[in-house]
Amino acid sequence: MAARKLSDDYLHLGHRRRLVQALRNRGIDNERVLAAIGQVPRHWFVDKAYEHLAYEDRALPIPRGQTISQPYTVAFQSSLLEAEENMKILEVGTGSGYQAAVLGKLGLRVFTLERQEPLYASARILLSKQRFGKVRCFLRDGYKGLPVYGPYDRILVTAAAPEVPEALLSQLAVGGHLVIPVGTDQQSMLRVRCVQPGEFVTEEHGTFKFVPFQEGIVATEH
Ligand code: SAH
Repeated sequence: MAARKLSDDYLHLGHRRRLVQALRNRGIDNERVLAAIGQVPRHWFVDKAYEHLAYEDRALPIPRGQTISQPYTVAFQSSLLEAEENMKILEVGTGSGYQAAVLGKLGLRVFTLERQEPLYASARILLSKQRFGKVRCFLRDGYKGLPVYGPYDRILVTAAAPEVPEALLSQLAVGGHLVIPVGTDQQSMLRVRCVQPGEFVTEEHGTFKFVPFQEGIVATEH
C-alpha cells in the first residue's frame, strides 16, 4: 500500500459510529469490542481506492490477493476470545493489521504473524506509527506459531485452516482459548479451550469464509 497522509476527522467518526450500530444490530453485544472498533480508523488499513467502502460491513481486497476481514467477523472473533486486559495474544494472519489494531485497543499484548513480506512490512509501519497499544509484528509462518514468546492466553487465527495446527495448541496456556476458522470451502468457527495440560475442549460457533491458511514465508519484491 502506498504511504499516504493519515487523517481521521468527524466524518470518519460518524461512519464508525454507524458501523458500530450496524454490528450491534447484527448481535454483537460485547461493549469493549464495540468500543475498540469505534476507535480504530479502518480506512487507514485499506487501499485508497477502497477508502469510501471502509465503513461498510464487508471484507475488502488488500495486496497479495488477501482481504481485510469483514468488521462483523472481526467483532465476532474478538468477542469469542473473551479476552481480559493485558493478556498475551498471538494473532496468525496480520494482513492489513486492522484486527491487530483492534486487539491492541482492547488492551492486549499482541504478537501478530504474517507470511507475506509486503503485508508484514506495511502493517508493521502502520501499527508502529499510530497509537494502537502493544502490537508487535513478525514475518513468520503461522503454522509454527511463535514459541519464543509463548505460551499465550489467547490465539486468534484469521485465515482458513484445514485443521487445527498442533504447534498452536502447544503454545496455548492452560485456561487459554484458540479461535480458529477450520474448513476448506467454508469454515466452522472453532473455539478450542485448553482445560488442563494437553486436554482441549472444542466448541463450534457458526460458519464463515476466510482466505486460506498457507504454509511458508513469501518474500516478494515490492
Ligand atoms: N487479520 C487480517 C486478515 C487478513 S487475511 C486483517 O485484519 O486484515 C489473512 C492473512 O493471513 C493474509 O494476509 C495471509 O497472507 C495470512 N496468512 C495465511 N497463512 C498464513 C500463515 N501460515 N502464517 C501467517 N500468515 C498467514
